[in-house]
Amino acid sequence: MKEKSAELAIVSNRTFEASTAVNLHHYDISSALQTTLEFKELISIFCNKIQATIPHNGIEYSNDEFDLEFKRGVMARHSCSYALKVEEQQLGELKLTRTNRFSKDELKMLESLLCCLIYPLRNATLFQNALKMAFTDTLTKANNRSSFNDSLFREMNRANRNNEHLSLIFVDVDHFKHINDNYGHGCGDLALSSLVSWLKDTVRASDAVFRFGGEEFVILLGDTDIDGAMLIAERIRADVESHTLAYGMDVISLTVSLGVATLKGNDTADSLITRADAAMYQAKKHGRNRVEAMV
Ligand code: GH3
Ligand code: MG
Ligand code: MG
Repeated sequence: MKEKSAELAIVSNRTFEASTAVNLHHYDISSALQTTLEFKELISIFCNKIQATIPHNGIEYSNDEFDLEFKRGVMARHSCSYALKVEEQQLGELKLTRTNRFSKDELKMLESLLCCLIYPLRNATLFQNALKMAFTDTLTKANNRSSFNDSLFREMNRANRNNEHLSLIFVDVDHFKHINDNYGHGCGDLALSSLVSWLKDTVRASDAVFRFGGEEFVILLGDTDIDGAMLIAERIRADVESHTLAYGMDVISLTVSLGVATLKGNDTADSLITRADAAMYQAKKHGRNRVEAMV
């Protein structure tokens, strides 16, 4: 703490009053940053708090680990950027822009103030990672069942509120037990995680892939009607069929059966799931490696 005041006194004209003011400013920023563990909120709070000391017109923050990128205000000609990190952990990149050049003293001050942001960002990273793990299936890296329950609830509310479509695709691996029986569980596990990466590649980034249980997966398609969902399901079916899996000396292929359902006015989460599941069983009954819908 003592060391920091000394350093800050240099930044602020070497006067005791200035160093006290700067310390209070740091304290004020640090307290405000303790109120959230959301990246976007942290950056906004920080930039609002430093606006009077380091005026700026626009900010840009990106964080590759969490696939985050946002801008606020107006991007201008002059900028300063910082790759933020602590103990080798990347915390994203922050860029401030404005119409006139940042002075040396301002940059020094900004660097000192950024110290207040680093640990809140690190805490947010730990928290968001823990959250991600709690909602991710460890084997396949698909979203897990409890994440599905949350997302379905949220998406159904949104679809009803905005009068939008919402569709579900149930995906079940055909004769998966044969893979386990013939090649072992390790191969079965590899098949499941490979399937999830094919599914993720086939759907839009906004359409989440969830592991419903065992070798059953579900895809939630926001703003998509039954015809759109059938097209996507058929694309998934053909894509899975076109892949092969190398396991030791063996080459394995998979097929999936898919069931599609779309939200109706009086649906509950259960009734929607039941229809998609029933459609999937219909696809099994009609010979597997096919898509069926239940309207
Ligand atoms: P169908 O075409 O009718 O769907 O037949 P199936 O063999 O795919 O279905 P069944 O329900 O008979 O078998 C599913 C198998 O999936 C049984 C279970 O042991 C296996 N399984 C479930 N979860 C996992 C897992 O995490 N890893 C592995 N390797 N196998 C799993
Ligand atoms: Mg199966
Ligand atoms: Mg099954």
